[in-house]
Amino acid sequence: MNYARKNIEQMTGYVPGEQPQVPGLIKLNTNENPYPPAPGVNAALRAALDDRLRLYPDPTAKVLRQKLGQQFGFEAGQIIAGNGCDDILNLCVRAFCGEGEKLAYFWPSYSLYPVLANIQGAQKVELPLNDDFQITVHPDLLTKLAGVKLLFITQPNAPSGVWLPKVELQRVIEETDGVVVIDEAYVDFAGDNCLDFVRDYDNVLVARTFSKSYSLAGMRIGWAVGVPALIASLDKVKDSYNVNRLSQIAAEAALDDRQYFEEITRKVKTTRQRVVSRLAELKFRVYPSQTNFVFAQTPAPLTARQWFDRLREKNILVRWWDADRIREGVRVTIGTDAEMDRFLESTKEICEKTNR
Ligand code: PMP
Repeated sequence: MNYARKNIEQMTGYVPGEQPQVPGLIKLNTNENPYPPAPGVNAALRAALDDRLRLYPDPTAKVLRQKLGQQFGFEAGQIIAGNGCDDILNLCVRAFCGEGEKLAYFWPSYSLYPVLANIQGAQKVELPLNDDFQITVHPDLLTKLAGVKLLFITQPNAPSGVWLPKVELQRVIEETDGVVVIDEAYVDFAGDNCLDFVRDYDNVLVARTFSKSYSLAGMRIGWAVGVPALIASLDKVKDSYNVNRLSQIAAEAALDDRQYFEEITRKVKTTRQRVVSRLAELKFRVYPSQTNFVFAQTPAPLTARQWFDRLREKNILVRWWDADRIREGVRVTIGTDAEMDRFLESTKEICEKTNR
């Protein structure tokens, strides 16, 4: 007997990247930050470990929202906090797109979007990116945007890592009657952001996370900013206590140390540049990354699957998907310099062996 709703029975759940506990493994598969959280995070968490854990956390994460508001120039009432950015994305689907209504996303991008659409029983509208993984605004795209209730845009995009020019995004926003969620999970590794669209359009939300640039993937903290009416809708849908006490404290402490944040994001970007140059020297096609990962296609005769498998044999874990448009490449998270040296050295050996 199957008790699940029909759409749940038929769908495949989201498959997260592996979290293997293998000693010595170089883990470059889920875009975590290789550096520890800001030193103040540890101290703040220790100080919070007392009998206050008996009590529910602040349901609205007020202190965190105020700090975010101050840092990014918004009112606290324009911000909602979530149990990771994924929670925020889920809330958006619940609040803005009903069963049978249109949920759109560019492809390839974050593979959670179609899964959320399937859970909701929404109608999926896939908007193809071009061969450079860029948006081209053409009549077919505009037709597909008609009647869309919710559109997800990943900026910079994943898994390609590329920045989507804002002129195209603006056209897309203006052509969309529903809510546009700009998922800026990786934006702190880019040179620009889309927060000004939140100020200019009442149908735009920008969603962010502490998992990448703040090194807090394990604490699950995300947030979104938009006009108060959009935030009020999300507030109605969320779990009352969707961000736990310790996570709120960790996020507040991380925000307080701007200098550390800037130092580690700068380090990741410098290492990224080195990885991109070296892979290009080895004749890989590397997409211009504005994120903490790179997407690269292999030089023949090496296939992406072989590159992935052989790195794994050398205890280096990267990400490969057997999916349309992306199976020709591998996504590599930027680790420490020492980790990336091992990765580059191993890649060189793999190429030499394949060419022999
Ligand atoms: N958006 C994108 C594009 C992502 O790649 C991820 C990480 N998998 C998320 C959102 C979710 O981030 P979080 O850890 O905050 O849930």
